Amino acid sequence: MEKDDKPISMKHLPHKTIERLSQYRRALLICLDQGQTHIYSHEIAKIQHITAVQVRRDLMLIGYTGTLRKGYNVSELIDLIGSIIDAGEGIRVAIVGMGNLGRALINYFSGKRSRLSISASFDTNPDKIGRTMSGVPCYSLEDMNEIIARENIKIGIMTVPAAAALTVAEKLVQAGIKGILNYTPKPVYVPKDVYLEEYDMITSLEKVAFYVKMQEVD
Ligand code: NAD
Repeated sequence: MEKDDKPISMKHLPHKTIERLSQYRRALLICLDQGQTHIYSHEIAKIQHITAVQVRRDLMLIGYTGTLRKGYNVSELIDLIGSIIDAGEGIRVAIVGMGNLGRALINYFSGKRSRLSISASFDTNPDKIGRTMSGVPCYSLEDMNEIIARENIKIGIMTVPAAAALTVAEKLVQAGIKGILNYTPKPVYVPKDVYLEEYDMITSLEKVAFYVKMQEVD
């Protein structure tokens, strides 16, 4: 197994490659748990429902090549992907909106082997403020600037009602957040130096429904 000395600048990795690296790592962690030490590109491809060429292309971009005989070393590859996509000492995350989705995300994340840790949450509901849910303390929005600075939180996840999305995004930016994941169906605006990812479940579902409909037409 060889590691190329000169992979392309990691800053220029395509967004889709970064997403797939995260998915490969999750699949590789399961393989490792099952005692698998080596894996071929076509095996990763099968798990991810993509082509082996795509897998090899992504891994070449990060300077990793397997051997014909044994494929890729699973734990080496997990470590390499981690060194590329994880922040050095981990990144702290806050959730704004401790409702159904906010709590589901916290539960999903707890115990995961990730360098992302949900350190705080914020809500406007006085019944939730001051409580700790799944190990995460919930604060008032008024304390956001102070908590985000004190806890060195860099990412904000928005799980508030759509009507509150714009003001919450603004508050997160003012508090010094560097990345936002917006789960509300309302698009928000952020300055250039803040990375924004928006995930609208209804759009995704309608896209799936469209392709299902198309299959029925064929
Ligand atoms: P919810 O009503 O259960 O939770 C919303 C939470 O936000 C509540 O705790 C509320 O007190 C809090 N809140 C309201 N205004 C706020 C503000 N200005 N600042 C901080 N907190 C505030 O709603 P939910 O089902 O968790 O959904 C949250 C968002 O995620 C919605 O925009 C929804 O469309 C979207 N979403 C939800 C789901 C889901 O499965 N529940 C899926 C996809 C998207």
